[in-house]
Amino acid sequence: MRLVFLGAPGVGKGTQAELIASRFRHPRISTGDILREAIRSKTAMGLQAKAYMDRGQLVPDEVVVGIVKDKLAEPACADGFLLDGFPRTVHQAERLTDLLNSRKERLDRVVNVSVPRDEVVRRLSGRRSCPTCQAVYHVDFSPPQRAGRCDRCGNELMQRSDDQRETVEARLSVYDAQTAPLVQYYRERGLLSDLDGSGRVEEVQERLVKLLAEHGVA
Ligand code: AMP
Repeated sequence: MRLVFLGAPGVGKGTQAELIASRFRHPRISTGDILREAIRSKTAMGLQAKAYMDRGQLVPDEVVVGIVKDKLAEPACADGFLLDGFPRTVHQAERLTDLLNSRKERLDRVVNVSVPRDEVVRRLSGRRSCPTCQAVYHVDFSPPQRAGRCDRCGNELMQRSDDQRETVEARLSVYDAQTAPLVQYYRERGLLSDLDGSGRVEEVQERLVKLLAEHGVA
């Protein structure tokens, strides 16, 4: 199973990709998570990426292509993987094709998750996460048992700095300008499937599993 999850920030692609990853036991590669981890560990890559991420802009292509190249080389990815948040530009998509060609592999499906724009803003502004275990909550839709505290480790939940309103707007404009063209790019190549991301997490997951089965992917 080799999948790409495409969609604007806040459509729930990370949540859906994570569920598919554990269901089918394939690694989920989230370039955003890897970059945030690099920032926490204060690596050179993290320091370089932070300035872009804080402004809601994309990190340079060569940085994220390097991350994905290294990840795909890990033995865990030999039988499949789920890419979440990569590619985000046509250039990244071309580099991914080159990488896969060199491994004699190809993508099975690109899942384009979408929800209405006002819903996206509501989801992002209420999103909270645990800085320790990275568990994700939403103040209205999936609140923790104790307000502001992680159910798993009890730590105080945080809002991602790029989930603040002005940055959310910048990220959505970046998505429209640089990432949305990928929908057409993959549709033309016969790889794209649209997934309605509205409704409860379980409902969306059910639709997704059905869609993958219809395409013989799962
Ligand atoms: P995400 O967690 O996927 O929403 O990503 C958070 C931020 O990380 C984005 O707003 C970008 O600044 C950066 N980022 C993640 N993936 C990529 C990518 N494929 N290309 C460029 N920047 C990325």
